[in-house]
Amino acid sequence: MRTTGPQKVVLAKNSGFCFGVKRAVDLALRTQDRVFTLGPLIHNPQVIAYLERKGIRAIESLDRIKDGKLIIRAHGIPRSVIAEAERKGLAVIDATCPFVRKVQRTAESLSRQGYQVVIFGEANHPEVVGIADRVKNPIIVETAGHVRALGRFDKIGVVAQTTQSVESYKAIVRELKKHAKSVKAADTICNATKRNQDAATSLAKNVDLMIVVGGHNSGNTRRLASLCSKIVTTKHIEIAGELKPSWFRRAAIVGVAGGASTPDWILRDVIESIEHEF
Ligand code: SF4
Repeated sequence: MRTTGPQKVVLAKNSGFCFGVKRAVDLALRTQDRVFTLGPLIHNPQVIAYLERKGIRAIESLDRIKDGKLIIRAHGIPRSVIAEAERKGLAVIDATCPFVRKVQRTAESLSRQGYQVVIFGEANHPEVVGIADRVKNPIIVETAGHVRALGRFDKIGVVAQTTQSVESYKAIVRELKKHAKSVKAADTICNATKRNQDAATSLAKNVDLMIVVGGHNSGNTRRLASLCSKIVTTKHIEIAGELKPSWFRRAAIVGVAGGASTPDWILRDVIESIEHEF
């Protein structure tokens, strides 16, 4: 029987699958026969395992397949890879989130207008790789420190990976303004990310402990955990099995938040575990 532990568990609003992830997963599930994604469709190992059971396989390279349907994941892929898939005769189904398409188009347009394009994001993230592939000589920066190392430019056009933090983007733009006569900063952080971050950080101010749930390989979940950890003790887990009793000894009110690629069933599982096992 439970004698100690949290008295209340609160789920942050706007937690879990965002519009773009839901759309990509639905599209994949509706597509039949020899369905492949290049890399994981979304950054959540449990969802990827579920899709595999439904016959949707993640492959690392197009060399692995001769025919079938290729679903372009929510955060996009480079144009060169799409062209290669079409050359091979694969049916290409585009599940790129419209917000990611907007960043790609904005970066393309800035590049065409002669701006030095700067992309604020994780250099190895598929979304950033896909944006960089569409512009001439892109510069990718991950921190304000990277910006300080840049030279001077006439005009800089900057876009952000859709899931970056708004505060960090503002700091990057402030720093970029010291490196060019004019800086055009596009607002490309998606609303789902903003809402998710705002709800989680507001909740973090009113609880004793935050549990942030989502793939350890999910950039947006890691950022959510990092933002919450500046406010209150925060643990990032992928599944309920990672919860530890010692975390809850002094936590009367526990907040739970999920990243944009965290399915509802994992969030429910985590909440039920905290309520009944600790
Ligand atoms: S986080 Fe935003 S940009 Fe990314 S898939 Fe979701 S809605 Fe689209």
